[in-house]
Amino acid sequence: MAKILVIAEHRDGKLSDGTLELCKAAKTIASAMGCEPAAACFGKDDSIAKEVAKYIPTVFCVADAALEKYTSDGYAQAAKAVIDSQDVKGVLIAQSYDGVDFAAKVAMAMGAGIVSNCNKVAVEGGAPVFTRNTYNGKIQEQKKVKTDKFVATFEKGAYEMEAAGGAGAVTAVSASISNVRTKVKEVIATMAGAVDISQAKIIVSGGRGLKDGDKYKDVIIPLAKKLGGEYGASRPVVDSGWTEAARQVGQSGKTVTPDLYMAIGISGAIQHVAGMKGSKCIVAINKDPEAPIFNIAAYGIVADLFEVVPQLMENL
Ligand SMILES: Cc1cc2nc3c(=O)[nH]c(=O)nc-3n(C[C@H](O)[C@H](O)[C@H](O)COP(=O)(O)OP(=O)(O)OC[C@H]3O[C@@H](n4cnc5c(N)ncnc54)[C@H](O)[C@@H]3O)c2cc1C
Repeated sequence: MAKILVIAEHRDGKLSDGTLELCKAAKTIASAMGCEPAAACFGKDDSIAKEVAKYIPTVFCVADAALEKYTSDGYAQAAKAVIDSQDVKGVLIAQSYDGVDFAAKVAMAMGAGIVSNCNKVAVEGGAPVFTRNTYNGKIQEQKKVKTDKFVATFEKGAYEMEAAGGAGAVTAVSASISNVRTKVKEVIATMAGAVDISQAKIIVSGGRGLKDGDKYKDVIIPLAKKLGGEYGASRPVVDSGWTEAARQVGQSGKTVTPDLYMAIGISGAIQHVAGMKGSKCIVAINKDPEAPIFNIAAYGIVADLFEVVPQLMENL
């Protein structure tokens, strides 16, 4: 049976959340297209492939010392080896820095059309129809590929993460990885010691409505800590130096998909919303009933944040 193939993404022995989301996507798309979900995993050995097999029934593993660290040449060659050895109808790749780096090479190798940054797929007449945001999320467009096969990259939060629990089979695929033109000497975090709010399950974000840096620290940080989450910010908060850049949510900051996102004193500009609209539950506190953030909030409190947050703190 033809396969819908996820290319697994991992770093320091840990699978990315995006890979678990793609496992869910592959199962959904495969079932609608009469295909079979599978994954391909590349590394120096098969240890991560065995981890992937907890989430998807079939995993193809290319193990080679040259695949210990991600390179676009290495991943493209390994992906081609798996695709050539199997009947692959579609390939799903995370819309991450690495994913967008090698996805086009995979599409070239397959002779397939590619759609990037998708957030939804419908199947019409047996063919996939991809939805993605354009113009900073103001418009959603639908795309089809003209080829029989496809490659698609998916934005974070497009699908729920698949839960572990399966015991899939890992099959070794041989590939000769050669002429890798880049050498990864070291992977350095963007800001040493910087927090990664994209992994947080609860985020309390503050905006310009906080008025100044001291109020941001007094109101937002204690509430985030009390809820056991991380604190985030809109861009003016970061630009004003009230908190560090790693906590900025939005188009030029982080994309986050927590279970709970609290937007406090944030208007809901399209560039902010672009980074948090995938949150499962959005709670907004804003004194302006017309603030656009209320259009996407599950719960909205029209009130002065300096009155509401202390009451929330008292009752938590
Ligand atoms: C290319 C580009 C990229 C950008 N990238 C980002 C990005 O990544 N992230 C981002 O956030 N922005 C980004 N922006 C900026 C974005 O357009 C907005 O200017 C910004 O998001 C507004 O931040 P804010 O909601 O905190 O402030 P404002 O829009 O000023 O909103 C403040 C809100 O606080 C409310 N308020 C005021 N006082 C109170 C009170 N006492 N109680 C309750 N509510 C109160 C007001 O009603 C208002 O709605 C970008 C802009 C551009 C052009």
